[in-house]
Amino acid sequence: MSVRLNSHLSDKQIKLLKDKLMGEAERIRSNFQLKKHEYENNSLTGAKDEVDSANDNILLAADMRFSNRENLYYKKIMKTLSKIESDQYGMCDECAEPITYSRLIARPTSEMCILCKEESEREESQNFYERRSKSLGREMSVSGH
Ligand SMILES: [Zn+2]
Repeated sequence: MSVRLNSHLSDKQIKLLKDKLMGEAERIRSNFQLKKHEYENNSLTGAKDEVDSANDNILLAADMRFSNRENLYYKKIMKTLSKIESDQYGMCDECAEPITYSRLIARPTSEMCILCKEESEREESQNFYERRSKSLGREMSVSGH
């Protein structure tokens, strides 16, 4: 038996957090289905001229951006659920201190305690412009192929 790290959380609290994460995952899954369905229906509306397909591409690009964000969140949820399974959940990635239940229930995918989070947000705002230009560069190379 492995040592349970997150002993500050009761079984009941963990179950509630897990339910919440699974609910979020389900919501994203059904959103994806809906989007996919919509897009498939739109593509079936007969012959298209150039302008229509250009519009489609713009819509698709917007959808993709939305989907990418959701996709990242979905992955995070899955990662969090696997952490719960291995009893690694609820500890701060930075300082290894327990993350409070009130913080977790508000945001079950939290990986840092409030102190480390605030610290990293301060650093993030300092690096904002640097990070921003990096992510823009990445976005361009992704859409380029
Ligand atoms: Zn911490």
